[in-house]
Amino acid sequence: MDAYAISRFLVAHHQSYEVYPLCRYYDIEIEAIRTGVFCPKCQCGQMQWLRRKWICASCLHSDQKAHLLALQDYGMLIDKNITNKQAQHFLQLSNRHVIKRLLTTSAYHKAGATKQRKYQILL
Ligand SMILES: [Zn+2]
Repeated sequence: MDAYAISRFLVAHHQSYEVYPLCRYYDIEIEAIRTGVFCPKCQCGQMQWLRRKWICASCLHSDQKAHLLALQDYGMLIDKNITNKQAQHFLQLSNRHVIKRLLTTSAYHKAGATKQRKYQILL
């Protein structure tokens, strides 16, 4: 399943804030959510982080902020708080230094000490 499509569909059908996280509200298996950053242009390609930007494997569109959409989906579907490790898994980018930079430059509220630090995704 595509996280972007699911979250947009569910939000379109229910506007109330109390539905978040949607996976719990709708009893969706978290493992069923497809992870990764998807191209905002063609919406079908999975993006890879290369030289400080996301590149679409399908249409080669590049975007420095494509992870923000994926993180919003994470916040709506799974949890509005995310750790570095969870972000590495969800964004399919196993570089904790890059992930830290992406999370800290996204203006998310930080809580906790370094390793267990959680970033609150703004919905
Ligand atoms: Zn694309």
